[in-house]
Amino acid sequence: MTTAEDLIAAADAHSAHTYHPLPVVVATAEGAWVTDVAGRRYLDLLAGYSALNFGHGNRRLVRAAERQLARVTLTSRAFHHDRFAAFCTELAELCGMEMVLPVNSGAEAVESAVKTARKWGYRVKGVPAEMAKVVVAGGNFHGRTTTVISFSTDPQARADFGPYTPGFEIVPYGDLTAMRRALTENTVAVLLEPIQGESGVIVPPAGYLAGVRELTRERNVLFVADEIQSGLGRTGRTFACEHEDVVPDVYVLGKALGGGILPVSAVVSSAEVLGVFRPGEHGSTFGGNPLACAVALEVIAMLRTGEYQARAAELGERLHRRLRGLLGTGAVTAVRGRGLWAGVDVAPRAGTARQVSERLVERGVLVKDAHGPTVRISPPLVVTEEDLDWGLDRLAAVLDGA
Ligand SMILES: *Cc1c(COP(=O)(O)O)cnc(C)c1O
Repeated sequence: MTTAEDLIAAADAHSAHTYHPLPVVVATAEGAWVTDVAGRRYLDLLAGYSALNFGHGNRRLVRAAERQLARVTLTSRAFHHDRFAAFCTELAELCGMEMVLPVNSGAEAVESAVKTARKWGYRVKGVPAEMAKVVVAGGNFHGRTTTVISFSTDPQARADFGPYTPGFEIVPYGDLTAMRRALTENTVAVLLEPIQGESGVIVPPAGYLAGVRELTRERNVLFVADEIQSGLGRTGRTFACEHEDVVPDVYVLGKALGGGILPVSAVVSSAEVLGVFRPGEHGSTFGGNPLACAVALEVIAMLRTGEYQARAAELGERLHRRLRGLLGTGAVTAVRGRGLWAGVDVAPRAGTARQVSERLVERGVLVKDAHGPTVRISPPLVVTEEDLDWGLDRLAAVLDGA
C-alpha cells in the first residue's frame, strides 16, 4: 500500500511548491468529514476556504452534476446550450441584478470585474483613455494572476512577479477618510472584500461598507464587492454586504458557486455595467459551460430557500460564543468573524497558528492558518452542532496545551 508519507514525498518532488499543505492525504469525503488514505477521519473546519459551503459530496449537487455529465458538458460559447439562460437569469435574480458574466476561477472573475469597470469608466463615465483607476484596500486578497497581485500588499504574493499592472491605488482597509481622499474623477471602481478572508477574517468597522456605498454613489464610482469567499451563505446572509444593507454595483462570485465540485465564478451586475461588452471583447472557453451551469443552478436553488444562510447564522452564534470563551484562557488574543466564519488569533505562548493547525490534524480536525497568528475556521454550513462542538473541544484542548 502507498502510505501518506510516500504520496507527500512524491507530491513534493513533482509539484511546484506553491503550497505548504498540512500532512493529511485525503482519499474520500462526505459532508463535513474527510477520510485519509489510512482510513482515519477528520472533521473539515476549513471547507475549501468556503468552496465547500454545502459539504463534501452533497447529494443534491452530485446528482445535478451526474445528470448533466450524462447529457452534455461543454459546448464552448461558440454555441448556445440549454442550461445557460437559466443559470444567468437565476444568478442575476439571486443577486438582485440583471446580467452575468460567467468565468471559471475567482481570480479570473476579479480580472473580468476590473476589465468591466475600466470599460464602463471609458464608455459610460467618460474617463479619458488609459487613465482609469481602481481603488483597493491594503491586506486584500483577490487571487493570484499578474494583474491581481499587482495590487496586493503581501510581499510574498508580489516578489519577483513584476512588472506590475498600473492603475490601482491602495488605501487602508476600514478607513473611510482615506477612501474619500483616494477617489478622483478618473476612479472607475472601488474593489473590496466585505470581510477580508485571507488577511485573517477581518471585519471592517461598522458603517464602513455603507460609507463606501455612499461615497461611490456620490462620485459615480462602481462599488465592486468581491464576495467570492464571504458570499453565498457563509456569513449568515446570502451576501456579506447585506449586514450593512449595502447593495454594490458589481458582485464577484466564485468558490461555493461551483458546489465544491468544479470551478464556477461570475461577475454579476446591471445591464448598464455588463452591457458595455461586445462580442469578441472578453471570453473563456469553459466559462458558463453546461456542467458548471447545472451545478451552479442547484447551488442557487439551495440558497433561495434561505435555510443555509439561517443555519450559518445560528451555528455561527454558537461558534463565536464558544470562541469568545477562549479569550479568557490567555491562549487566544482576538476572535473575529461573522456567521460560520472566524479568525482566531493565537497567543504566542500557545504556539504559531501553523503549529496549532498541525496539532489539530493529529486530533482529527482540519483548519488552516491565515497570515500571521490567525487560525481560520470556516466549517461547511451543513456541519452538525455536535460535530462543531467536538471540533471546538479539540481546538480548546490544543490551545490549552493538553
Ligand atoms: C479565493 C478568493 C479569490 C480567488 O479565487 P480563485 O478561485 O482561487 O482564483 C479571490 N477573492 C477572494 C476574496 C477569495 O477568497
